Amino acid sequence: MIKAITGTKDILPSEISKWYFLESIVKKKLSNFNYKEIRTPIFENTTLFARGIGEGTDIVSKEMYTFLDRSGESITLRPELTASVVRAFIEHSLEKKQSLNKFFYIGPMFRQERPQAGRYRQFHQFGAEALGSNDPLLDAEMIIIAYDILSELGLKNLEVKINSLGVPSEREVYKNELKEYLKNHFSKLSEESKKRFNTNVLRIFDSKDERDIEIMKKAPLLINYLNEESLNHFEVVKSTLKNAKINFVVDSSLVRGLDYYTHTTFEIVSGSVGSQSALCGGGRYNGLIKELGGSDLPGVGFAAGMERILLACENENILNLPEDKIDLYIVTLDKSKSDISYKIAVELRRKNKIVELDYLSRSVKAQMREANKFNAKFVLFVGGEELNNNEVILKNMIDGTQENISLSDIDKLLYKLGE
Ligand code: AMP
Repeated sequence: MIKAITGTKDILPSEISKWYFLESIVKKKLSNFNYKEIRTPIFENTTLFARGIGEGTDIVSKEMYTFLDRSGESITLRPELTASVVRAFIEHSLEKKQSLNKFFYIGPMFRQERPQAGRYRQFHQFGAEALGSNDPLLDAEMIIIAYDILSELGLKNLEVKINSLGVPSEREVYKNELKEYLKNHFSKLSEESKKRFNTNVLRIFDSKDERDIEIMKKAPLLINYLNEESLNHFEVVKSTLKNAKINFVVDSSLVRGLDYYTHTTFEIVSGSVGSQSALCGGGRYNGLIKELGGSDLPGVGFAAGMERILLACENENILNLPEDKIDLYIVTLDKSKSDISYKIAVELRRKNKIVELDYLSRSVKAQMREANKFNAKFVLFVGGEELNNNEVILKNMIDGTQENISLSDIDKLLYKLGE
């Protein structure tokens, strides 16, 4: 048997209503903040992600699905969407049409990570990007949107962590100080962190190694190296969050190693999903648009993992969505009359009713079983004696009442189904 590839998952019809529900909240919330959906291709030139995410990152160095296509071009399945959105923004000169562009997206991403609960190789993210403004209100807006979506789902066990990375010149000074500090502990660092000491020293904060964590606890903090402008930016983000009644903690270990990240970074974690607890993450990236060949414009955004969010909902036992129901099941009593049943079905479906009927020449009993399985609100019996008078019988499955309806009076039938 051919099975789905490790780390990928089928979303079966029995689960789809949860996805529709989440997607509808995402679309509604982002539309309220006036973000417009953008849909970019699933695959792009490898260079886009190598430059846009950064050669030194785990994603680019170990996780991308990269292959040569038949013309020998290096193609990558998108591991995230910020780089693609920025590419589209530059390619279509969108800054000329509008000075601030606010985008959102929903779709699958691909990373060759070790699969485990909450970590897949094809997974879905929604996210937003605001390109063209350095206003700290937008940094806060990303957090407010993400938080509001998660709370509207009913999630409770959430923690918002924020930090500020300042600007590259401040980080340079800080990185040297951090290295000075780490030199005294170098021999105790894990092998991975020893490597990061030279390639990307900030990322030692991401280490899960107990001894590294202990050493980093006493390390100098980036926040103490920020100048007034950066500190003010961070203050506005914090006060905006407070005004929006969002609790947060400042977590100085929340770093991103690349130069084009600036100012705010944030993460929202859930206490309900085990080790893969980050539901979403984001931040400001004022150097990225220029890095990818566009103008020197600022940007800020976030991405959230949909499988993880749904897992958190399941573990908190929320999202008790109403059972699927259909408006009508048509039971054909006499198979020779199935054309009449079908004609009624088409007519009602064209009037937006959810209607099902038998396609397997089943017995009346089996058709009734189907009607129950689909939670039909009404059942229509076609082909009994009353058909001699051009009538069918409509049964209300909730109160058990039934009545005859003339086939020439489809409007009455529609009216009854709408009751
Ligand atoms: P990132 O783009 O790495 O900042 O991730 C943003 C969010 O996407 C994370 O907080 C997760 O919720 C989700 N995510 C990232 N990688 C995966 C994965 N391999 N499987 C499932 N969700 C993921």
